[in-house]
Amino acid sequence: HAAKSKTAGVLLYSPSLDSSSTQTLSLLTDLRHALQHGELRLFLQPKLDATSQQVVAAEALVRWQHPQRGLVPPLQFIPFAEQTGFVRQLTLWMFEEAARQWASLQLPGQPVRVAINLSTRDLLDQDFPQRLAGILKQHGLASSGFCLEITESAIMDDPQRAEATLNRLAAQGFKLSIDDFGTGYSSLAYLKRLPVSELKIDKSFVMGMATDESDAKIVRSTIDLAHNLGLSVVAEGVETAAILAQLRALGCDEAQGYFISKPLPAVEFNAWRTRWDTRAPGA
Ligand code: C2E
Ligand code: MG
Ligand code: MG
Ligand code: MG
Repeated sequence: HAAKSKTAGVLLYSPSLDSSSTQTLSLLTDLRHALQHGELRLFLQPKLDATSQQVVAAEALVRWQHPQRGLVPPLQFIPFAEQTGFVRQLTLWMFEEAARQWASLQLPGQPVRVAINLSTRDLLDQDFPQRLAGILKQHGLASSGFCLEITESAIMDDPQRAEATLNRLAAQGFKLSIDDFGTGYSSLAYLKRLPVSELKIDKSFVMGMATDESDAKIVRSTIDLAHNLGLSVVAEGVETAAILAQLRALGCDEAQGYFISKPLPAVEFNAWRTRWDTRAPGA
């Protein structure tokens, strides 16, 4: 099938590209160009403390501001970037960009941790922990100001090497989070050995919990499982006030989703936060 096709006016990069094809090379050239010419954007989506409703963290999510095609969402190029290994440069760019903006996101007494998404390739790269340390040093920042989100499938690609990298990152002081929990194939026996401190319940369960009894049960059991393992738990995909209230009642620690805010360009984050902190009670 076509490696590069137009669907509703946006780029679509098939994850099943033949890595030797010339089309693949041209996509890679496009991505490299995007990185070098400042076409990648870091967006931020707040994570709230479910009880106090204060902003405690922000997840960094990449977008590609394409000169012809507009804002391209990550699912249209991240799988390709992972397949080709380009994602390693992308992760470092996101981390560097987050480090550059970190201080501007902080308010006195209300620290905001910035979460970066990692891929399998990062976990297999022996130099990765050292590279992050170098960026932190350059910006005079502490690892405790950051969280690293890793999906179950990224870990299970090569569990032994992933574990070694995660142990080093945890020893360096990063908070580690398991992303999209419940959709991968990780074993609980394995997860309990990893130095993670947070589980993020996948949005498919959270979005379904108001209408689907099984989803509601999965969310409830995952919150209990996380707490029994001494982990904090975040619900992603919170789209309504009712779901936020339900999550709070179940003891979920943090919430993230369109009901609170869509991912925002980093420059708009502080203005949004001021509006959020001063919004009418109960709103
Ligand atoms: P993720 O890490 O699980 O990020 C959460 C995704 O859910 C984001 O999509 C976010 O916009 C979306 N989302 C948040 N709240 C809601 C909601 O209430 N309703 C709905 N329907 N969706 C919600 P996004 O930004 O399109 O990113 C998709 C995925 O792409 C991410 O899933 C992550 O796996 C990957 N990704 C994004 N940025 C990066 C990056 O910098 N590096 C890597 N390796 N992956 C990234
Ligand atoms: Mg994530
Ligand atoms: Mg997620
Ligand atoms: Mg997800």
